[in-house]
Amino acid sequence: MSDSLRSLNYLDLQQCMHCGMCLPTCPTYTETQNERNGPRGRISLMRAIADGRLDVTKTFGEEMYFCLGCLACETACPAGVQYGHLFETARAEIEHSAVLANPKRNAIRSTLLKGLFTRPRLLRFVGRLLWLYRASGAQAIFRGLKLNRLLPEKLRGLEAQTPVAQAKFSHELIPPVMGQGRKVALLTGCVQDIVLADVNRDTAEVLAANGCEVHTPPVQPCCGSLHAHNGEPDTARLLARRMLDLINPADYDAIITNAAGCGSHLKTYGRLLADDPAYRERAEAWSAKLKDVHEWLDLIGLRKPQSPENPCKVTYHEACHLCHGQKITKQPRSVLKAIPGLELTELGESTWCCGSAGIYNITQPEMSAKLLKRKVDHIGKTGADVVAAANPGCHLQIANGLREAGSDATVAHPISLLAQAYRTERDRSAAP
Ligand code: SF4
Ligand code: SF4
Repeated sequence: MSDSLRSLNYLDLQQCMHCGMCLPTCPTYTETQNERNGPRGRISLMRAIADGRLDVTKTFGEEMYFCLGCLACETACPAGVQYGHLFETARAEIEHSAVLANPKRNAIRSTLLKGLFTRPRLLRFVGRLLWLYRASGAQAIFRGLKLNRLLPEKLRGLEAQTPVAQAKFSHELIPPVMGQGRKVALLTGCVQDIVLADVNRDTAEVLAANGCEVHTPPVQPCCGSLHAHNGEPDTARLLARRMLDLINPADYDAIITNAAGCGSHLKTYGRLLADDPAYRERAEAWSAKLKDVHEWLDLIGLRKPQSPENPCKVTYHEACHLCHGQKITKQPRSVLKAIPGLELTELGESTWCCGSAGIYNITQPEMSAKLLKRKVDHIGKTGADVVAAANPGCHLQIANGLREAGSDATVAHPISLLAQAYRTERDRSAAP
């Protein structure tokens, strides 16, 4: 499969009829009011390159990395333009053309995308170091002595956002097989495995409580979404093959993910490996069986927990790749509404990107901060105690935003709130 704009099916590019319906939903366009910074402008540039009227330039590269890849434009588009596919192809062409290449960028990309995120054991080792940095008190000393002033300006902000790695990884919290009934494989993710392994444990418990036999392979590769979204389709394909070697969809009723960004990409394995005769069939079967956990619970019929009412005001932030990428909007709300005592209060602009967008908060800190502030302001208006979010990037970004704003609200995965309700139910029935 070629990953250039010229190799795309031209109809995919032609589909845009320039109506502009997507413009008010695009966060970058809304911020700058510049045609180039919106989906319509970006698609016109892509088409000009495919036509041979324009070369892939540094300016084009910067424009495509200014786009969040939030896919809000896909939801708004009446013509059904598959912007996500165009966007990934454009970024792959930018990397292939090396118009943005410089030694520092190249080193960071090859260390992170090719070195770290292709090696789950090494990634876990880094997770352990992060955990140790905090648990040993080194982080407190570093911050207390204000040593971050010695860091370059870009890193200063990042140090403050260092995610809190958990003491245990997913395989240390979840037995390899638990529950009984429909047979499902649970994906533990890479970032999620390090910083939100408890969400994976909660997911396994919820699935078991809903009549599933949950299989959780202990060391899983990254799904490759980070690579596909950042112009590295070959590495994304390599990781997809590794995943298919580890988990054969024929062995399961469903393959479950609880991370929106991963899920949106995992569902494209069929297309990603369409030209690979050795994996094509398995990849198609995989895409058909890949389910977001909320989607799966809705399909099999969620069991409402019978726990006592525990009053709690919750608002729901819709991760872009769940609502725009996978069109899953009602199911997470159904999960939340099933929890006794939980009052769901709607969030203004719930589908508006929080600015996390993979590594966008690192590559475009200014725009990311603007979007985060907009999100936190809306959350403040709800008066919610908890913000439910189903993607690790959103979770960390919003938690940072709330902390910086001095808010007491916390962030939780909807499935974690459900797991807690099941635990309360279990404890109550076990009580003498
Ligand atoms: S993906 Fe998001 S930021 Fe990019 S063009 Fe579409 S709406 Fe705008
Ligand atoms: S809404 Fe769709 S068809 Fe209309 S300008 Fe945007 S991408 Fe093109």
